[in-house]
Amino acid sequence: MAGRVQSPLSLCSIACSETLRELLRRSVIGDPAPVLLVGEEGAGKHFVAQRLAAAILCDQPDPISGACGECASCRLLRSGSHYDLIDLEPPKGKKMIAVASVREQISGTLHTYPQVSRKRVYIISAVKADTLNEQGQNAILKPLEEHPDFIRFILLTEDANRLLPTILSRSRMVQLGRREEQDIRLILREMEFGEGETADLAVRYADGIPGQALAIAGDATFRDLRRQAFKLFICLPESTRTFCLTQGLSYLRDEKNRIATILRLFETFLRDLLLLKSGLSGTNLINGDLVSDLDAILKRVPNTDPARAAEIVQQTGQALARNVNFDHSIGRMLIGMRAFLSAETVPQGVFLCLEDQAF
Ligand SMILES: [Zn+2]
Repeated sequence: MAGRVQSPLSLCSIACSETLRELLRRSVIGDPAPVLLVGEEGAGKHFVAQRLAAAILCDQPDPISGACGECASCRLLRSGSHYDLIDLEPPKGKKMIAVASVREQISGTLHTYPQVSRKRVYIISAVKADTLNEQGQNAILKPLEEHPDFIRFILLTEDANRLLPTILSRSRMVQLGRREEQDIRLILREMEFGEGETADLAVRYADGIPGQALAIAGDATFRDLRRQAFKLFICLPESTRTFCLTQGLSYLRDEKNRIATILRLFETFLRDLLLLKSGLSGTNLINGDLVSDLDAILKRVPNTDPARAAEIVQQTGQALARNVNFDHSIGRMLIGMRAFLSAETVPQGVFLCLEDQAF
């Protein structure tokens, strides 16, 4: 890399561990097997795929940093379009890639020679369960196995178990795990979110997921949301069931669009409360600035049970992802959190089983 200015398309522009970078390097150099990038939402799959594609398409790639950033291919990529890069995504506003589109864009172009580079790259999104259904996956099987030497594939998914075993067995899997705090800070700096309190909050809440850090840093209302969510949380132990089902539920109903973030906030409050209860106050609290309020709960309710309250929050998140009734699940969650936080005696299984409609 010496003497070379780092290009934004370079593999070195990916803020990650050296181990992961080495895996990424190896996945594009020499080996023509399809690369399967696996990572949760916000893990940076598209960002990484672009840099792998750039390295494959570049006229004079560097074995360490990948794309040179200067050749005709790199310039085309930087301008946002490259004749030899085909990005297969669901059309705008749709969740699924139609099988006809797979056939047209992949099978239909497979044998056409690249126009600018020596290779052609297909980035195929199978991120969610329904992005590329079984029929769509079947349609890419043959191209994955039989294609001209100049073809390379990069597949993206959040969950490799959703893909056909025949796709997995043909691919080289690279897991994009959670990043270290220093990497998340680097990403925030590069996106000009600076170092201030917003960046600190984003780092603490993102839990190693770059996309989440960026979303939080870019959301001017996050701090306000956190304040409101904490206000509700802090009064739960001394509240009543009626409060939960009226004011509590009504607030969360108004914030329905951001419910996933609120549940995540609740989880962090409960995690910190659990650490404080275990006498681990010196360790990394996510909400260090709220410690005196959390301590006050412990003083008032020494037997408070944040662990079981956290379980019900997690289960509620999973239930909402399955489109269960919002009011029912959220009302139940608040009553459950209130019961566990106030150390009420709760028979086993009353709240911690959302399939059970009997409460
Ligand atoms: Zn280049």
